[in-house]
Amino acid sequence: MSLMHPYQVTDRNGVRHSATLADCLNIQRTPAARQSILDRTFHRVSAEGAEMQVEKAFFYLDLPRGQAFLVQPPRERFKHVDASARLERMLGVLPDSMRSQVQYLRVAYGLDELREKIVAADAGLDDRAIELMKAAVVHDHPVLLTRARLRLSLDRVDAQGAQFLAQYDHSPKAFNVTYATPELFCGDERALKNWSGTMDRNDLYKLPERGDHWVNYRRFLPSQDALSQLHVAVSDLAKGKPPAPASKAFQSLLARLPRGSGLSSQGKQDLRALFLWAKKKNLQKLQDQLFELRFGVTLEDSWYRNDDKNDIDTLWRLLKNLPDSHVEGNARLSEISLDLGGGGGSFSASTNEIEIGSTELAFKERFEDTLRHEVGHAVHEAHPDLVNGWLWERFGWAIFEPTQAGIDDWVAQMGAGSGWPALTATQKTQMRSLIRQACGAGSVWGPTVTPNAPSGSPWRVAGFGPRLAFEQSGDSWYEKNSQWYRAGGKAFAFNFWYGTLMCVSEATLGFINTRMPDAYAAMSPGEFFAEIYALFYDPGNPKRKNLPADVMKWLDRELGQLSAGREAMPKSMVGAKARPGKEAPRRRSQAGKGKPT
Ligand SMILES: [Zn+2]
Repeated sequence: MSLMHPYQVTDRNGVRHSATLADCLNIQRTPAARQSILDRTFHRVSAEGAEMQVEKAFFYLDLPRGQAFLVQPPRERFKHVDASARLERMLGVLPDSMRSQVQYLRVAYGLDELREKIVAADAGLDDRAIELMKAAVVHDHPVLLTRARLRLSLDRVDAQGAQFLAQYDHSPKAFNVTYATPELFCGDERALKNWSGTMDRNDLYKLPERGDHWVNYRRFLPSQDALSQLHVAVSDLAKGKPPAPASKAFQSLLARLPRGSGLSSQGKQDLRALFLWAKKKNLQKLQDQLFELRFGVTLEDSWYRNDDKNDIDTLWRLLKNLPDSHVEGNARLSEISLDLGGGGGSFSASTNEIEIGSTELAFKERFEDTLRHEVGHAVHEAHPDLVNGWLWERFGWAIFEPTQAGIDDWVAQMGAGSGWPALTATQKTQMRSLIRQACGAGSVWGPTVTPNAPSGSPWRVAGFGPRLAFEQSGDSWYEKNSQWYRAGGKAFAFNFWYGTLMCVSEATLGFINTRMPDAYAAMSPGEFFAEIYALFYDPGNPKRKNLPADVMKWLDRELGQLSAGREAMPKSMVGAKARPGKEAPRRRSQAGKGKPT
């Protein structure tokens, strides 16, 4: 499984809901999550009959398709420069053999932006072309711009063409737009590149060279563009680089900012920072302008149709320079009745969304840790016998299915004190049934069934090991591992997420509780290995030195050395030039089927 964790989310009425949400999705291991995103059922919470969409930060990795997406909450679009840098840092965590498989690096704001990337790639369409196609759609149907806060997203690609949904944050009005010949439009890459090249900062084909990975039409919105620029200006100011208030660029930025209530809370904060600076510098004119922006009440119009269209690096330039490869009349518009529901669209107005800010990730402080952990799972799966053998021999970790053989092997670890060996064959059959019941159906963080044992049943005998193991596991069993049933130097627990039985040496639990960053390592043998792996490959972590010498040695020998401290290869050696001593040669391919590097 990927990293799914229990979260508490609070809706607009202050009601709390618990939800299991992803921090990191490895699609190779959880293909169902991808389907759930396509079905628009991912990160959904039901609250009093209404479906809420939870928007939070997570990392999406699909190596066979070459995709690495950093998903962020939609309200943080103004930080796309920071998020792009973060995504690049995260990819640095991947071993070379995995990194070389990633071809599409994207930052996506919200599940809808993520979803349309997946839809486009499945249809073999370049996502940059899709975003430009949206501008062509708007060119054909300017009526789409008559309401503020348009949400334009690719819904699907079918025999009729590329199907877009046009919705609005604060209006029930919605349209379906069919673009009939997407392959013709997308196929003419030269025309698209020239067209996109009429943009300056927002040329989609030039983004990668600036380390920018947000490919979305909202970049073209004058107000979005201005808010991002404002945020950069305020960050620069904090670093001692003040703006030039009289410059044309700065005045153009102010002219495009939304006014009054149209400002995001971050926009208000940034304006405030600028205002304080203007006050300190006694810049009266700028103070007046900022004040007007902050409190001025004008008609909300995020498209700024009345501005000088040549002045601004935004949609207007695209509309003016539409290439010939777009045939006028290609986009067909039809209004959707929202009452119908379903119909392939999630007509979620913004009121049905709960956002968790990217800084509020509860479980793990750092995304990079999460990713290292996830890579650990991938390594484990590529070498199951090697890793499982080590986990058993070195740490006493084992996990058993609640089958007859599995249960028998598990209780055998408990020894005679558990009361099991003294049972008759019939009693053993009954006890296995109770253990199976107690395991539950899985995918939950605690027990759901209390085995119903009749009075006089061996289950009720004081000191009966399997029952004690069940009762002492409890909710979030990994956090309470000091209470687990113990016998013969081993500890025993039920894993309610997998519906399985576990045993581990007491010494390993002691090591987890005193020396490792997180008790989550006691969740399962697989999570333990992923946590060990993440710690080993995180040179900056102060707890790394807690890893016992033999553990370091094993990881080092079996899984390759850290780049630091690696002796450089002689320059004449084959391959030395391509990777001058950066990465140790691996004994085994880490990703299993990575491209030869
Ligand atoms: Zn994990």
